[in-house]
Amino acid sequence: MPNVFDLTILGSNSSYPFHGRMCTSQILRVDQNLYMIDCGEGTQIQLSKFSIQRNKIKAIFLSHFHGDHLYGLPGMITSYMHFGRKEPLHIFGPVGLKKYLETVFEVSNVYLQFELILIETVWDVSGLIFEDQHLQVFNFPLDHRIPTQGFIFKTKETNRNIIPEKIQEFGLTHQEIKELKAGSTIVTSNGITVTTENACFPPKPDCTYVFASDTKPISKFPELAYDCNLLYHEATYLADLETLAIERGHSTSTHAATAAKEIRAKKLMLGHFSSRYDNLNPFLAESKLVFENTILAIDGETHAIN
Ligand SMILES: [Zn+2]
Ligand SMILES: [Zn+2]
Repeated sequence: MPNVFDLTILGSNSSYPFHGRMCTSQILRVDQNLYMIDCGEGTQIQLSKFSIQRNKIKAIFLSHFHGDHLYGLPGMITSYMHFGRKEPLHIFGPVGLKKYLETVFEVSNVYLQFELILIETVWDVSGLIFEDQHLQVFNFPLDHRIPTQGFIFKTKETNRNIIPEKIQEFGLTHQEIKELKAGSTIVTSNGITVTTENACFPPKPDCTYVFASDTKPISKFPELAYDCNLLYHEATYLADLETLAIERGHSTSTHAATAAKEIRAKKLMLGHFSSRYDNLNPFLAESKLVFENTILAIDGETHAIN
């Protein structure tokens, strides 16, 4: 597990920026690497306001193409021409991603100086869509008005730590320690076979973040989502507007809390609040009746997931 695994909220409002809340966007940090989830209007303003280095964003994951999750994207990408980006940028989204960006770039006559890798995902089947040395990302289907996917971010085991006493006990060299930490079995100059399990502390447990927005309550989450460290679930409305929520493909605070309880999440974060609500405290109160460990998504706040 990485040393740092945290989430910064850039936007928590639905539909349009209001009450000082921007539209959906989040930054997931895994040690020095950043990953963006959704890119609603105003995302660039938030990146500057909260001093987030946009060149460190390795990949962007888009849940769906409603404007409040998407309309910050072209500006965000073209801004890289002013930030000297050279690293490739991966963007994942449902079918339509290529058409949308290619159209915008064509009419605006945009030429990028870095590689943009657009991946159109199969949104209605759960699967692994991205993997690097830090984490695995899986998508899964949500139930909204247009094709919409949720994401499961799962950290990968990194190098283990050596048990100091074992260095002398086995007479380990610098190179042998390096190999053991990386998971290899070694044979010392004295002919002793040493495994990672013999010489290193056990690995830290995996850590999982689940993003579910926008959606009606879904009947089944993928197995991988169960026992997650943090579930972000949309709660566009309070429970008295349940009928409206379902009609519009959204959830209430109670729906979100029920989902958290169902998948045994360790913590629940509510977000994607309707502009009709200025005061968000009732969301917290309603959710806690079902799931105690609930917090609210607040623009600019960072929460440790591990
Ligand atoms: Zn939305
Ligand atoms: Zn939507």
